[in-house]
Amino acid sequence: MSTDVGTRTRITAGALEAIRAHGVETFPHECCGAMISVGGVVVDAFRLPNTTAEGAARRFRIGPSDYRASEARARELKGELAGFYHSHPDHPARPSSHDLEQAWPNFSYVIISVNASVAGDITCWYLKDDRTAFEQGELICHTES
Ligand SMILES: [Zn+2]
Repeated sequence: MSTDVGTRTRITAGALEAIRAHGVETFPHECCGAMISVGGVVVDAFRLPNTTAEGAARRFRIGPSDYRASEARARELKGELAGFYHSHPDHPARPSSHDLEQAWPNFSYVIISVNASVAGDITCWYLKDDRTAFEQGELICHTES
């Protein structure tokens, strides 16, 4: 569609607000969910259970059943799975080494920092082709017309 796919994520104000609300609700634990895009714009923040066995306050994990549920949600909305979001309670909105290990190429990863129950910075990341690091992308709030 355009050459900037892979570095920018367009998202509706409603979906952005849903991510913020989810992060605040689950504080002090991490929240996670899938982002569904329709026509190149993320329109839906689809909540997923945090299935990590290591404690939801520290890590998030998208399991195979979550992945399937996210794809089903995308089909339902006639869109596609654009990526995943999760929160960093009392931590900056930067990916951890664990996030890097869990990441798949070609998806957008949105991280929201939640500090003392208040939603903070929200950032967007992409895995580099060689999978050695994340590259920060741009999160663009799309005004619905
Ligand atoms: Zn993380």
